[in-house]
Order: sequence, then C-alpha cells, then structure tokens
Amino acid sequence: MKLISIVVPCYNEQEVLPMFYEEIQKIMKQMQEEHAELIFELVFIDDGSRDKTLEILREMSLKDKRVRYISFSRNFGKEAGMYAGLENAKGDFVVVMDADLQHPPAFLPKMYNYVKDGEFDCATTRRVSRQGESKIRSAFARLFYKIMNKISQTEIVDGAQDFRFMSRQMVDAILNMQEYNRFSKGIFSWVGFKTQYIEYENVERPAGTSSWSFWGLFRYSLEGIMAFSTAPLMIASILGIVSCVVAVILFIVWLIKGFCDGWIFATTTGIMCALFFIGGLQLFCTGILGQYLSKSYLEVKHRPIYLMRENEEIYRSRQENKN
Ligand code: UDP
Ligand code: MG
Repeated sequence: MKLISIVVPCYNEQEVLPMFYEEIQKIMKQMQEEHAELIFELVFIDDGSRDKTLEILREMSLKDKRVRYISFSRNFGKEAGMYAGLENAKGDFVVVMDADLQHPPAFLPKMYNYVKDGEFDCATTRRVSRQGESKIRSAFARLFYKIMNKISQTEIVDGAQDFRFMSRQMVDAILNMQEYNRFSKGIFSWVGFKTQYIEYENVERPAGTSSWSFWGLFRYSLEGIMAFSTAPLMIASILGIVSCVVAVILFIVWLIKGFCDGWIFATTTGIMCALFFIGGLQLFCTGILGQYLSKSYLEVKHRPIYLMRENEEIYRSRQENKN
C-alpha cells in the first residue's frame, strides 16, 4: 500500500472548495483504478478563513474519513499553511496544491508516474503563459526572476509553482528547514533532489478572488530575495567604496582648482550636494542592514510557524461528547 497525502492550503475558499473536492475525488478514483496499491488522505489547512471554509471542511471530514484538516488560530499566510500540511501529512508521497483549481488535479496521474519508481523525487508544473494576469503583474514577475537568479545561488525557475508531487525524502528535507521567513519557491529549489517540470498554460480561477494584491506580491518578492541572497548587503559596501573614490577625486580637483584660481572652489551648493549625497547613501545602506537585521530578529525568536486551533480529531471528539 502506498499513501498519497494531498495538502491544500485554503484561505476564504468557500466558493471553490466544493468544486475542488468533487474534482479531486474523480482523480483519486481514477488513480486507484490504474494503481491498485494507492490510498489517499486529504490534508486541508484552514488559514484563519473568515468565511464558511471551516464549516465546509468540518462537514467533509465527518462524511469522508480520508479528509483531515488543520484550522489555524488566525491567518498565518500560505507559506505557513504549506508547512503545517507537510508536517502533518503521513503519506509516502505528498502533493501540495491550491484549492482554487489553478493547479489542475488532472495532472496528478502524470506526476505520479514520474515519482512512483523513484526516478524523480519531485514532479511539478511550470506555467509557460500568464494569460489572465495583468500585463504589469507579469512584467514585474519576470523582472523578479531575472534579479533573483542574478544575485542568488539558488536557482528559481520562472513560472515554477507550488504545485508539487514529492517523495517522503524530499518532504523530510523541506521540514528540516525550520526558518520562520519561508519562501517556498526558494526552499524547494535549495533542497535540490531530482525535479521534473511539466509545462502548461495558465488556468484562471473558476470562482473567488486571488488574495494577492500587487503590493502583497511585491513584499513577498523582496522577502524571497532576502531569504535567498545576501547580495543587497554588498550594495552597501560597494556604494561606500564608490562614494569614497568620488570624495578623493573631488579633493584632488579642489586642491588643483585652489592652486590655480585662488581658494574659491568650495561653494555652498557643492557642499550641500555632497552632504545630501553622503547622507542619502548612508540612510539607504542602513535601511538594507535594518531589513536583514529585522529578519534575523524574527528568526532568533524561534516563534512557531503556525498555531492550530482545531483539527478533525478535536472536532469529532467534541461532536461525540455532545451526543
Ligand atoms: N492561501 C492561504 N493563505 C493566504 C493566502 C492564500 O492559504 O493567506 C491559499 C489560497 O486559499 C489558495 C492558495 O493559497 O489555495 C493560492 O492563493 P491565491 O489563489 O489567492 O494566489 P494566486 O493563485 O493568485 O497566486
Ligand atoms: Mg490562485
């Protein structure tokens, strides 16, 4: 027998959750017909949803014993959701996928074929188009991947997604990375292992809305850069060196001019320019240092990545006590 755990982070997904459940059931059945050794569990993460997501999960878990869920005490973000799912999944293989059907369940049989014999440790999808996404958003996404791959040793594939079919070994490796500032695209790539990419065209959500605003994504990309590159810290040193060189050149020019024209080079404007320039540089560099320091501060505290409020066991025993 081989157990496949399907981990699904959900935040305010009441509209798509029933559709997702229906789709995934079909695929699980199909896979069981093809491979008699397969059994499944569904691990849903309710990431502090404010709609009926939790109610739907409770109901599903009562009806279907394969359904498990973990409900957070508040919204911790998708990264925390994925971590909780991986930590609680018991499967020999673990799938991570979105609830909104943008990660088509129909890919699962194909992905399983890649990992089942251990030829690959991970099968994942790669979007080759971003149809349905705004032009600005796509442009910024491309820019992010360019910068990231220039300044970080960890390669992040453009269009790679958090839709993954992984072996137990790879999941354990990911769980070993206990960092608080989690950037999964980087983590998946950092742990290595053999990964097979399956290319596909972007699929739009059938219902509900994306919870990522433009600024949310922008902040997330900065976090990614800081989690997997220390290059911005180098900017501080480089700017420092550049401004020292400029200062030395200015000093020499000042000396020569002084000798030739009688000492009038140091005008107030010149001094003001230099002051603003140096002041700006210093603030800029301190800012970068501050960002890294604040991230280290959060890491050093060793806060839990998520807090659980309820799961299917707690809910079931509560229901039994009531009856
Ligand atoms: N999600 C989550 N917590 C959050 C935000 C999103 O668990 O704080 C889940 C969401 O329910 C969905 C997945 O992460 O299953 C992807 O979210 P979304 O569709 O909003 O992002 P996009 O597809 O636009 O990148
Ligand atoms: Mg989505």
